[in-house]
Amino acid sequence: MSSSSVSVQVIGSGAVRALPERGGPCYLVTIDDRQLLFDCGRCAVHNLHRLGTPVESIDEVYLTHLHFDHICDLPLLLLLSWNNGREGRLPIFGPRGTSHFLETGVRQAYVDDVNSRISHGNRVRDNLDWAATEITSEGLVYGKSQYQIEALATAHAGLANWNYRITIGDKVVVITSDSEPDQRLVEFCRDADLLLIECSGTKAFYESVAFGGWHITPEDVGQIARDAGAKQVVLKHFVMESFTDDPHVAESMAQTVRGIHPEGKIFAATDGLRFEL
Ligand SMILES: [Zn+2]
Ligand SMILES: [Zn+2]
Repeated sequence: MSSSSVSVQVIGSGAVRALPERGGPCYLVTIDDRQLLFDCGRCAVHNLHRLGTPVESIDEVYLTHLHFDHICDLPLLLLLSWNNGREGRLPIFGPRGTSHFLETGVRQAYVDDVNSRISHGNRVRDNLDWAATEITSEGLVYGKSQYQIEALATAHAGLANWNYRITIGDKVVVITSDSEPDQRLVEFCRDADLLLIECSGTKAFYESVAFGGWHITPEDVGQIARDAGAKQVVLKHFVMESFTDDPHVAESMAQTVRGIHPEGKIFAATDGLRFEL
Protein backbone atom coordinates (compact mmCIF):
# COMPACT_ATOMS: atom_id res chain seq x y z
CA MET A 1 0.00 0.00 0.00
CA SER A 2 1.11 3.52 -0.68
CA SER A 3 0.79 6.13 2.00
CA SER A 4 2.10 8.81 -0.36
CA SER A 5 -0.17 11.41 -1.87
CA VAL A 6 0.10 11.40 -5.64
CA SER A 7 -1.19 13.91 -8.15
CA VAL A 8 -0.63 14.22 -11.87
CA GLN A 9 -1.21 17.41 -13.82
CA VAL A 10 -1.09 18.05 -17.54
CA ILE A 11 1.01 21.19 -17.95
CA GLY A 12 0.94 21.13 -21.75
CA SER A 13 -1.47 18.98 -23.75
CA GLY A 14 -0.34 19.98 -27.23
CA ALA A 15 2.55 19.18 -29.51
CA VAL A 16 4.80 20.97 -31.99
CA ARG A 17 2.93 23.94 -33.42
CA ALA A 18 2.14 27.07 -31.44
CA LEU A 19 -1.41 26.98 -30.21
CA PRO A 20 -2.42 29.44 -27.51
CA GLU A 21 -4.71 27.05 -25.66
CA ARG A 22 -2.27 24.13 -25.60
CA GLY A 23 1.30 24.20 -24.37
CA GLY A 24 3.84 21.68 -25.66
CA PRO A 25 4.41 18.32 -23.95
CA CYS A 26 4.92 18.67 -20.19
CA TYR A 27 3.42 16.71 -17.27
CA LEU A 28 3.89 17.16 -13.54
CA VAL A 29 3.81 14.25 -11.09
CA THR A 30 3.74 15.28 -7.44
CA ILE A 31 4.56 12.60 -4.86
CA ASP A 32 4.11 14.07 -1.39
CA ASP A 33 6.28 17.20 -1.59
CA ARG A 34 8.43 15.95 -4.49
CA GLN A 35 7.84 17.50 -7.93
CA LEU A 36 8.76 15.39 -10.96
CA LEU A 37 8.54 16.96 -14.39
CA PHE A 38 8.21 14.87 -17.54
CA ASP A 39 9.26 16.72 -20.71
CA CYS A 40 9.52 20.48 -20.89
CA GLY A 41 8.02 21.72 -24.13
CA ARG A 42 6.75 25.03 -25.40
CA CYS A 43 5.15 27.20 -22.67
CA ALA A 44 6.03 24.72 -19.89
CA VAL A 45 7.54 27.44 -17.70
CA HIS A 46 4.66 29.83 -18.31
CA ASN A 47 2.05 27.16 -17.64
CA LEU A 48 3.80 25.85 -14.51
CA HIS A 49 3.69 29.32 -12.99
CA ARG A 50 0.13 29.90 -14.15
CA LEU A 51 -0.91 26.59 -12.53
CA GLY A 52 0.85 27.35 -9.26
CA THR A 53 4.17 25.52 -9.51
CA PRO A 54 7.20 27.83 -9.65
CA VAL A 55 10.09 26.35 -11.64
CA GLU A 56 12.49 26.46 -8.69
CA SER A 57 10.30 23.89 -6.92
CA ILE A 58 10.94 21.19 -9.57
CA ASP A 59 13.04 18.37 -8.04
CA GLU A 60 13.65 16.01 -10.97
CA VAL A 61 13.23 16.22 -14.75
CA TYR A 62 12.68 13.27 -17.11
CA LEU A 63 12.95 13.66 -20.89
CA THR A 64 11.33 11.21 -23.27
CA HIS A 65 13.32 12.18 -26.38
CA LEU A 66 15.10 15.14 -27.90
CA HIS A 67 12.53 16.38 -30.42
CA PHE A 68 12.39 20.11 -29.77
CA ASP A 69 8.70 20.14 -28.87
CA HIS A 70 9.62 18.10 -25.75
CA ILE A 71 12.68 20.05 -24.57
CA CYS A 72 12.57 23.62 -25.85
CA ASP A 73 11.63 25.15 -22.48
CA LEU A 74 14.28 23.24 -20.51
CA PRO A 75 16.99 25.92 -20.95
CA LEU A 76 14.50 28.50 -19.66
CA LEU A 77 13.54 26.28 -16.73
CA LEU A 78 17.21 25.88 -15.74
CA LEU A 79 18.07 29.56 -16.15
CA LEU A 80 14.96 30.93 -14.51
CA SER A 81 15.04 28.54 -11.56
CA TRP A 82 18.72 29.45 -11.04
CA ASN A 83 17.89 33.12 -11.26
CA ASN A 84 15.03 32.59 -8.81
CA GLY A 85 17.40 31.06 -6.28
CA ARG A 86 17.31 27.32 -6.86
CA GLU A 87 20.01 25.61 -4.84
CA GLY A 88 22.02 22.62 -6.01
CA ARG A 89 22.07 20.68 -9.23
CA LEU A 90 18.82 19.73 -10.89
CA PRO A 91 18.71 15.98 -11.66
CA ILE A 92 17.81 15.46 -15.32
CA PHE A 93 17.24 12.01 -16.81
CA GLY A 94 16.99 11.57 -20.56
CA PRO A 95 18.14 9.73 -23.66
CA ARG A 96 21.69 9.75 -25.04
CA GLY A 97 22.43 13.26 -26.25
CA THR A 98 20.90 14.91 -23.18
CA SER A 99 24.28 16.08 -21.81
CA HIS A 100 25.30 17.48 -25.18
CA PHE A 101 22.01 19.36 -25.48
CA LEU A 102 22.45 20.91 -22.03
CA GLU A 103 26.12 21.70 -22.57
CA THR A 104 25.57 23.46 -25.90
CA GLY A 105 22.00 24.65 -25.46
CA VAL A 106 22.41 26.09 -21.98
CA ARG A 107 25.99 26.44 -20.74
CA GLN A 108 27.55 27.52 -24.04
CA ALA A 109 24.56 29.33 -25.47
CA TYR A 110 24.05 31.50 -22.39
CA VAL A 111 27.67 31.97 -21.29
CA ASP A 112 27.61 35.76 -21.61
CA ASP A 113 24.35 36.07 -19.73
CA VAL A 114 25.54 33.80 -16.92
CA ASN A 115 28.89 35.58 -16.60
CA SER A 116 27.13 38.92 -16.52
CA ARG A 117 24.80 37.90 -13.70
CA ILE A 118 27.59 36.28 -11.69
CA SER A 119 29.82 39.33 -12.09
CA HIS A 120 27.12 41.32 -10.36
CA GLY A 121 27.44 38.95 -7.45
CA ASN A 122 23.90 37.75 -7.17
CA ARG A 123 24.19 34.10 -8.23
CA VAL A 124 26.32 31.07 -7.56
CA ARG A 125 27.56 29.55 -10.81
CA ASP A 126 27.29 25.94 -9.64
CA ASN A 127 23.59 26.30 -8.95
CA LEU A 128 22.87 26.75 -12.64
CA ASP A 129 24.13 23.23 -13.02
CA TRP A 130 22.39 19.96 -13.55
CA ALA A 131 23.14 16.32 -12.84
CA ALA A 132 22.38 14.62 -16.13
CA THR A 133 21.86 10.87 -16.38
CA GLU A 134 21.66 9.46 -19.89
CA ILE A 135 19.52 6.34 -19.85
CA THR A 136 21.14 3.52 -21.78
CA SER A 137 19.15 0.47 -20.80
CA GLU A 138 15.58 -0.48 -19.99
CA GLY A 139 14.35 -1.09 -16.48
CA LEU A 140 14.82 0.87 -13.29
CA VAL A 141 16.06 4.40 -13.92
CA TYR A 142 15.65 5.86 -10.48
CA GLY A 143 14.43 4.49 -7.21
CA LYS A 144 13.70 5.85 -3.78
CA SER A 145 11.80 4.23 -0.98
CA GLN A 146 8.72 6.26 -1.97
CA TYR A 147 8.74 5.58 -5.72
CA GLN A 148 10.49 3.80 -8.56
CA ILE A 149 10.78 4.91 -12.18
CA GLU A 150 11.27 2.44 -15.00
CA ALA A 151 11.94 3.14 -18.67
CA LEU A 152 10.97 1.30 -21.85
CA ALA A 153 12.53 2.04 -25.23
CA THR A 154 10.25 2.23 -28.26
CA ALA A 155 10.94 3.34 -31.81
CA HIS A 156 10.21 6.94 -32.74
CA ALA A 157 11.71 8.79 -35.68
CA GLY A 158 15.11 7.13 -35.28
CA LEU A 159 15.74 8.81 -31.93
CA ALA A 160 16.62 7.30 -28.57
CA ASN A 161 13.18 7.31 -26.99
CA TRP A 162 11.99 6.48 -23.48
CA ASN A 163 8.57 5.81 -21.99
CA TYR A 164 8.27 6.06 -18.20
CA ARG A 165 6.41 4.01 -15.60
CA ILE A 166 6.23 5.45 -12.08
CA THR A 167 5.31 3.10 -9.24
CA ILE A 168 4.36 4.67 -5.93
CA GLY A 169 3.48 1.83 -3.57
CA ASP A 170 0.35 0.30 -5.11
CA LYS A 171 -0.23 3.22 -7.49
CA VAL A 172 1.07 3.26 -11.06
CA VAL A 173 1.36 6.17 -13.48
CA VAL A 174 2.62 5.63 -17.02
CA ILE A 175 3.69 8.46 -19.31
CA THR A 176 4.42 7.41 -22.84
CA SER A 177 6.63 9.21 -25.28
CA ASP A 178 5.77 9.76 -28.92
CA SER A 179 5.97 6.22 -30.24
CA GLU A 180 5.56 3.98 -33.20
CA PRO A 181 3.18 1.08 -32.53
CA ASP A 182 4.76 -1.41 -30.12
CA GLN A 183 2.97 -4.26 -28.38
CA ARG A 184 5.47 -4.12 -25.52
CA LEU A 185 3.61 -1.01 -24.37
CA VAL A 186 0.79 -3.31 -23.18
CA GLU A 187 2.92 -4.94 -20.48
CA PHE A 188 4.59 -1.63 -19.65
CA CYS A 189 1.18 -0.02 -19.05
CA ARG A 190 -0.18 -3.01 -17.12
CA ASP A 191 -2.83 -2.02 -14.53
CA ALA A 192 -1.91 1.66 -14.69
CA ASP A 193 -4.09 3.80 -12.45
CA LEU A 194 -3.34 6.65 -14.85
CA LEU A 195 -1.96 6.34 -18.35
CA LEU A 196 -0.90 9.47 -20.22
CA ILE A 197 -0.49 8.35 -23.80
CA GLU A 198 0.22 10.10 -27.05
CA CYS A 199 -2.59 10.28 -29.57
CA SER A 200 -1.20 12.52 -32.27
CA GLY A 201 -3.78 11.87 -34.97
CA THR A 202 -5.89 9.42 -36.92
CA LYS A 203 -4.70 6.87 -39.49
CA ALA A 204 -6.09 9.05 -42.30
CA PHE A 205 -4.15 12.04 -40.98
CA TYR A 206 -0.92 10.03 -40.68
CA GLU A 207 -1.31 8.95 -44.31
CA SER A 208 -1.33 12.61 -45.31
CA VAL A 209 1.92 13.67 -43.59
CA ALA A 210 5.56 12.58 -43.86
CA PHE A 211 5.92 11.83 -40.13
CA GLY A 212 2.77 9.67 -39.86
CA GLY A 213 4.76 6.50 -39.24
CA TRP A 214 6.25 7.90 -36.04
CA HIS A 215 3.02 7.77 -34.02
CA ILE A 216 0.17 5.57 -32.80
CA THR A 217 -3.49 5.90 -33.75
CA PRO A 218 -6.53 6.15 -31.45
CA GLU A 219 -7.20 2.49 -32.30
CA ASP A 220 -3.68 1.57 -31.11
CA VAL A 221 -4.24 3.59 -27.93
CA GLY A 222 -7.56 1.85 -27.27
CA GLN A 223 -6.08 -1.61 -27.79
CA ILE A 224 -3.02 -0.92 -25.61
CA ALA A 225 -5.12 0.63 -22.82
CA ARG A 226 -7.70 -2.17 -22.93
CA ASP A 227 -5.19 -5.02 -23.01
CA ALA A 228 -3.16 -3.39 -20.23
CA GLY A 229 -6.26 -2.83 -18.08
CA ALA A 230 -5.49 0.88 -17.67
CA LYS A 231 -8.05 2.47 -15.36
CA GLN A 232 -7.82 6.11 -16.43
CA VAL A 233 -6.43 7.09 -19.81
CA VAL A 234 -5.43 10.61 -20.79
CA LEU A 235 -4.81 11.32 -24.47
CA LYS A 236 -2.17 13.96 -25.20
CA HIS A 237 0.08 15.41 -27.94
CA PHE A 238 -2.63 16.34 -30.43
CA VAL A 239 -0.55 17.07 -33.55
CA MET A 240 -3.51 16.67 -35.88
CA GLU A 241 -5.52 19.39 -34.17
CA SER A 242 -3.02 22.10 -35.07
CA PHE A 243 -2.95 20.96 -38.69
CA THR A 244 -6.70 20.84 -39.18
CA ASP A 245 -7.82 23.69 -36.89
CA ASP A 246 -10.64 21.34 -35.93
CA PRO A 247 -11.31 21.77 -32.18
CA HIS A 248 -13.26 18.49 -32.07
CA VAL A 249 -10.33 16.26 -33.10
CA ALA A 250 -9.17 15.44 -29.57
CA GLU A 251 -12.65 14.58 -28.27
CA SER A 252 -13.42 12.56 -31.37
CA MET A 253 -10.24 10.47 -30.87
CA ALA A 254 -11.23 10.02 -27.20
CA GLN A 255 -14.58 8.64 -28.40
CA THR A 256 -12.78 6.10 -30.57
CA VAL A 257 -10.72 4.99 -27.56
CA ARG A 258 -13.85 4.74 -25.37
CA GLY A 259 -15.39 2.43 -27.97
CA ILE A 260 -12.44 0.04 -27.69
CA HIS A 261 -11.85 0.31 -23.93
CA PRO A 262 -15.27 0.95 -22.36
CA GLU A 263 -14.05 -0.17 -18.92
CA GLY A 264 -11.61 2.71 -18.68
CA LYS A 265 -12.23 6.39 -18.01
CA ILE A 266 -10.92 8.19 -21.09
CA PHE A 267 -10.00 11.87 -21.15
CA ALA A 268 -8.74 14.20 -23.87
CA ALA A 269 -6.11 16.26 -22.05
CA THR A 270 -6.39 19.99 -21.58
CA ASP A 271 -3.75 22.24 -20.04
CA GLY A 272 -4.17 22.16 -16.27
CA LEU A 273 -6.15 18.91 -16.11
CA ARG A 274 -5.26 17.36 -12.78
CA PHE A 275 -5.76 13.96 -11.15
CA GLU A 276 -5.42 12.84 -7.54
CA LEU A 277 -4.57 9.17 -7.13
ZN1 LIG B 1 6.35 15.32 -29.92
ZN1 LIG C 1 8.69 13.23 -31.18
